[in-house]
Amino acid sequence: MADPLATVRCDACPVMCNIRPGLTGACDRYANSAGELVRVDPLVLLESTLAQGGPLVAFQSEPDWDGRLVRGADTFVTAIGAGTTYPDYKPAPFIVSTEVDGVDMVTVVTEGVFSYCGVKVKIDTDRHLGAERALVRAQGEPVGHVTTGEYGSQMLSLGGVGHLTGGTKKEGRVTCETLLALSNAQAVELTIDDGATVIVQAGAAPIVNGVAETKMRVGCGSATIGIFAPQWLGKVDEVVVVDDHITGVLSEHQAGKLLDIPPTGIRMRGRRSTPGRYFQVAHPGTGWGGTDISDPLSILDPFDPKHARPGLRMLMVSTTGEHSAYYELDEALRPVARPFPSVLTDSVARISENCEPALCSVVFIGGAGGSLRAGVTDNPVRLTQSVSHGVTRLTCGGAPVYLWPGGGITFMVDVTRLPENAFGYVPTPALVAPIEFTMPLAQYAAMGGYMDHVRPAASLDPAAPHRRLSAAPDNPWPLTPLIAP
Ligand code: SF4
Repeated sequence: MADPLATVRCDACPVMCNIRPGLTGACDRYANSAGELVRVDPLVLLESTLAQGGPLVAFQSEPDWDGRLVRGADTFVTAIGAGTTYPDYKPAPFIVSTEVDGVDMVTVVTEGVFSYCGVKVKIDTDRHLGAERALVRAQGEPVGHVTTGEYGSQMLSLGGVGHLTGGTKKEGRVTCETLLALSNAQAVELTIDDGATVIVQAGAAPIVNGVAETKMRVGCGSATIGIFAPQWLGKVDEVVVVDDHITGVLSEHQAGKLLDIPPTGIRMRGRRSTPGRYFQVAHPGTGWGGTDISDPLSILDPFDPKHARPGLRMLMVSTTGEHSAYYELDEALRPVARPFPSVLTDSVARISENCEPALCSVVFIGGAGGSLRAGVTDNPVRLTQSVSHGVTRLTCGGAPVYLWPGGGITFMVDVTRLPENAFGYVPTPALVAPIEFTMPLAQYAAMGGYMDHVRPAASLDPAAPHRRLSAAPDNPWPLTPLIAP
């Protein structure tokens, strides 16, 4: 019987907190309840049946429920709320067996402590957020950097062991806080050196310098010409799709050539790549097409009189259709703004229509190839091999992961596919992420698993604090064997 007034020592991570009665440890995950060390958050169970019309919603018990914590192969024990073990050679907190279609399966469940982890953030926006390699800061501390942009998106690489452990104590703490908030799909304000301030939240539109982004570009300027060229034929003589990366010019582009659009004498600034495709027409910014311009004519040189003629009609538009303007050449072959003709309205609206909603995506990346494996088996490389050979299924809070090829177990997971608040932290500093390894029981025995710690899932204590959720219908059911028995 525990002494209810005793201080208890938590040994779930290297911090080894001494916790007084009624209080929690430094990470708020463990508490002293009347002299007993308890995990504060309930164990999360996923139910596969009766998908109730939405992802990860609270599960409604069936009337004939027999009271068991786990019903069988329809219930998956996630690592959320399962707890951690330290040092790593201790068997994982839950090693549970379940019969699935006549096959004995085992799931090893633990909350892993990740010093080697981070998030990759994809921000759907044309607007320039910062130069590649520029530092990204939270609360003034460096927490990551801008990495290579992708199609229609700016990318950030945040966290990692360098920021968690290699800087000042404050840098490590703020990095950990930032990763935790982003992984739990909370909003975080980030500032980029010599760039923008952006509020990022997984699954929500980015807010760049106080303005909510709405659209993700249909394509680069060249692609936009390639998609819409036939829709401009006969309605306008020239189209320029302004883009910080690849500005497209209809009359010079192969799409225009195939439609027999004649030269217009247009002359672009920037560097010509291939016909009708120009790089560096301006500087990056938050104006037209991710450039710094507000006047599109600033990217043109005077028209060539050999091909240009007074009255020539020209549309200039951005890659999202957010900006557009119409011009006609005057007698001196200078473009003069004219009222936007209704005949072109539909084509600009079509560009906008083809833009998807701008969102932020947050993908957690962690390395489970280290000491965490020792809680699964006394021969860790066997686990690595089993995962890479597709025998053991790795899930994160029941959500599917992408496994990196090569050595170790480096995985990525879309944080919106996990139940809410699935991630935690310890002040070492490091992130705590739920992780489950599911495999046939025979394979577990063969890899040197802790067979004397395997217990039937149905025997778990129904009085244990727990939370039932219906599994997200678009997540594969994690208990399904990856290979035929
Ligand atoms: S930080 Fe949390 S897990 Fe680590 S010893 Fe303290 S209470 Fe336990």
